[in-house]
Amino acid sequence: TRPYQCTFCTDVFKSKHDWVRHEKSLHLSLESWTCAPFGPTYTDASSSLSRCVFCNSEHPSEAHLRNHRFWECQEKPCALRTFYRKDHLVQHLRLMHGVEKGSSQVEAWRSEVTHINSRCGFCMEVFTRWTDRNDHLAAHFRQGLLMKDWKGCRGLDPAVALAVENAMPPYLIGAESAGLDPFSASKRCNNDPSLGDACCLQRGETQPTPFEQLTEHLIRFVRENQATGVAVTDGSIQQEARSFVYGDADPWNQTAADNPDWLQLFKDGMGL
Ligand SMILES: [Zn+2]
Ligand SMILES: [Zn+2]
Ligand SMILES: [Zn+2]
Ligand SMILES: [Zn+2]
Repeated sequence: TRPYQCTFCTDVFKSKHDWVRHEKSLHLSLESWTCAPFGPTYTDASSSLSRCVFCNSEHPSEAHLRNHRFWECQEKPCALRTFYRKDHLVQHLRLMHGVEKGSSQVEAWRSEVTHINSRCGFCMEVFTRWTDRNDHLAAHFRQGLLMKDWKGCRGLDPAVALAVENAMPPYLIGAESAGLDPFSASKRCNNDPSLGDACCLQRGETQPTPFEQLTEHLIRFVRENQATGVAVTDGSIQQEARSFVYGDADPWNQTAADNPDWLQLFKDGMGL
């Protein structure tokens, strides 16, 4: 039997280890990237030269760094300069700092995330450490609880929730796994199915769902507007979502952005 159930898709596992690894590798990486946390320059190990963290220019002048809008970014709260997906940092570097190819320093800006707010949908307990949450849920699964008994959300902070990949809402997982073709993050891999889970352990191989594509599109829309100083409103987000999903602005066409709870989560996640 496979008592451990993914809380993001319908996959089930024999061991706690495989379950934890699946959630981390396919859904929530538990890594974050902060923009330029060690200042605007770094020392090149081979030449001992001071270089610009954004474009590697030697001895960058203050004007050069101002052009990159380094201080403008640093003045923002840390939460707005921290991203739970690397591609979101790369996007920020392009839109905010005019860096096309990503910075050579990105790996140095990465940190492991150990503290993530979350909740148990079986007994409503809340956690601040991911490992505590996993130990707790594992005990429930050993008692035989099923995801169809899960109530409510995962309790993730909005910025973290927006970074979750290949996921479906927890209250749908129980219903979905009873269907004929259950949504499984690892089964969506296009590679040799005989490799099973192993081929999916490299992130980014699975196709994004339409919902994820919409979220990605709206994240880019908001960041582009913020970078050019255009105010973002509920209406402009909803209209952008409509034209992305349906190709027109007919208000009869409803998207996730027309759901007030989702819109609030999205705006919190984007610091709006
Ligand atoms: Zn999963
Ligand atoms: Zn920045
Ligand atoms: Zn530069
Ligand atoms: Zn619990």
